[in-house]
Amino acid sequence: MSTGKINVSVENIFPLIKKFLYSDHEIFLRELISNATDATLKLKHLTSIGESSAEYGNPQIEVKIDKEGKKLHIIDQGLGMTQEEVEKYINQLAFSGAEEFLNKYEDGAKDTGIIGHFGLGFYSAFMVAEKVEIITKSHKDEPAAHWTCDGSPNFTLEAADKTERGTEIILHIAEDSTEFLEEGRIAGLLSKYNKFMPVPIKFGMKTETLPKPEDAKEEDPAPTQEVDNIINNPNPAWTKQPADLEEEDYKNFYQELYPANFDEPLFNIHLNVDYPFNLTGILYFPKLGQDMNMQKDRIQLYQNQVFVTDNVEGIVPEFLTMLRGVIDSPDIPLNVSRSYLQADGAVKKISGYISRKVADKLKSLFNNDREDFEKKWNDIKLVIEYGMLSEDKFFEKADKFALYPTVDNTFFTWEELEAKIKENQVDKDGKTVVLYASDTDAQHSYIQSAKDKGYEVLLLDSPIVSHLIQKLETSKENVTFVRVDGDHIDNLIKKDEEQISKLSDDEKETVKTAITDAIANTSYTVQVEAMDSNAAPFIITQPEFMRRMKEMQQAGGGGGMNMFGNMPE
Ligand code: ADP
Ligand code: MG
Repeated sequence: MSTGKINVSVENIFPLIKKFLYSDHEIFLRELISNATDATLKLKHLTSIGESSAEYGNPQIEVKIDKEGKKLHIIDQGLGMTQEEVEKYINQLAFSGAEEFLNKYEDGAKDTGIIGHFGLGFYSAFMVAEKVEIITKSHKDEPAAHWTCDGSPNFTLEAADKTERGTEIILHIAEDSTEFLEEGRIAGLLSKYNKFMPVPIKFGMKTETLPKPEDAKEEDPAPTQEVDNIINNPNPAWTKQPADLEEEDYKNFYQELYPANFDEPLFNIHLNVDYPFNLTGILYFPKLGQDMNMQKDRIQLYQNQVFVTDNVEGIVPEFLTMLRGVIDSPDIPLNVSRSYLQADGAVKKISGYISRKVADKLKSLFNNDREDFEKKWNDIKLVIEYGMLSEDKFFEKADKFALYPTVDNTFFTWEELEAKIKENQVDKDGKTVVLYASDTDAQHSYIQSAKDKGYEVLLLDSPIVSHLIQKLETSKENVTFVRVDGDHIDNLIKKDEEQISKLSDDEKETVKTAITDAIANTSYTVQVEAMDSNAAPFIITQPEFMRRMKEMQQAGGGGGMNMFGNMPE
């Protein structure tokens, strides 16, 4: 047996570790299970490339509570460590890593926005344990090792008789941390941090009901068996290819993410990028309606399937924090403060990418099934309108699919709306007037009178509508919004009262001559107007008396001719 002193350069980091962010003590379990997972996946890699002769098998990680002994065990079947490796990785690397982390943390301690806390690593065990043991057997043909440390820089390292490959970490839980000997507490942590980790995690046993045998009588109870209680799904939907997933799989995954939530998402967006950063994930549009107060079910951030936080502020554009789902990226720096995060180039790119993907998805939903998109509009408009207000790039994209419903439930895009009203709804300054109501009951009589005049009245009722209007008035040329019950409505003048042709008199004459020559029939009159691209450029009419004459000749056959048409060939 050897004993030694960890090479401490700061006075003693152990009290510091213990003091570390009190409310975050629970992350020790995530750190240790992450290490167990890493060790397992490393072995998988080594065996797959032939650099380990070990049998990989179906390894799992086990978490075990020994209440009487006041111990918590984390056991893996990963690649293990030799004595030398313990010396190197635990006493030196892990220690200096923790030390470095704490130094950094001390600087950032005032910044309450610090997230993640990855990096404290193995030594986070001392936040809850007064003594930690490692019993480990390498996949290499070398004796097992037993390391013990009591929370001072002193450690012991000796040979052990463990024969199965892998590592067992034993935490002797401290007096003030006995909550971590409660099954419920540990189960809660496992489900919070490890629900989607890539290696199966066993926590106790559970009873599984088997199908009844064919010859069983009705009153016979179904047979049961005791099986490992695996707390995680090692292959969550976001790690798969979109092509391998059905609509149903996405819905099921939503339930898996938010088990207490029974509503169905409206649609999902599968994120998958590996350049210039790595990011996978699935975002869901929940039914939001008018409810901006979404606190409970939030987007969860993972790093390689390890839960980090459900506060994605700064990573996901703010207007999309109302969505739900998962993003997973190893490229998001987690040991830094939020203000740093927001300035980080990679993070900015990620945020931009997410915003773009969401816009693209909305666009394709709109293009593929407009009717369905209209049905969902009320549940998604808040996010879209909010996005249009906060990001110009998103505005540009959303301008193609954002909808403007009328009080009669017709949905216009901006382009359609403009085409519809610009002839008929113009004010004295020549601005196109968008009339809108926010409450069909309260404004009923105003709406009716506007409709009687042939005006379109929009129903704009989201809580941010005044901002949206302002945004539209500044980004659209020559447009003004007027409330249906505002006094401005009197400014509206019908355009036909002062129609002006787009053609000069000379041009009109040229066109008229060309058409008259082409039809070569003197009983028709050609009128050239060319008011607008939507209206007929010319009208060919037959004088009323000619029409009647003909009618008499033909004894009631056919009516007059009133043709609206293109230039004759
Ligand atoms: P990190 O995981 O970031 O490397 P840690 O402090 O968590 O830092 O762990 C330090 C090192 O200790 C790991 O890199 C690994 O080499 C070793 N180690 C920790 N836990 C295990 C384990 N369960 N099996 C094998 N090696 C481990
Ligand atoms: Mg680690």
